[in-house]
Amino acid sequence: MSILAIRKLGDPVLRTKAKEVKEITDQTRDLLDNMAETMYAAPGVGLAAPQVGILQRIIVIDVDDEHGLIEVINPEIIDVSDERIIMEEGCLSVPEQTGRVIRPKEVKVRGLNRNGKEIEIEADNMLARALQHEIDHLEGILFIDKLEKQEKQY
Ligand code: ZN
Repeated sequence: MSILAIRKLGDPVLRTKAKEVKEITDQTRDLLDNMAETMYAAPGVGLAAPQVGILQRIIVIDVDDEHGLIEVINPEIIDVSDERIIMEEGCLSVPEQTGRVIRPKEVKVRGLNRNGKEIEIEADNMLARALQHEIDHLEGILFIDKLEKQEKQY
């Protein structure tokens, strides 16, 4: 396993849409291992592949001991709650900046695990937040974009 370099704001890779993973190989699993190690070393609670310069739809999350390490390949949000809440967010790619972001409180995410098996995750609060934040990265979206939009609204 190895710790990967985390790309920072201004790096165009963070603004590029990631590609669907067509085939899950040992390379994919090595990447998952390295992403988790990089996230824990940072330390952070989530990491998306574009943040380490790899434009594949892969995320890792670990928000608490209850849920542990969550790995999702090709994650898709398939349902969100009407209820939306404001939470403070930060990002390993946007150092020394946090901000309050409004997002759905609960989400349902579908994707694949490291063995290519379909998984569904129903999450609320912190885990739901992390899933949405990391899936945004796969679209080239950063949490600061949402801050700006909110500021425009008020
Ligand atoms: Zn982030």
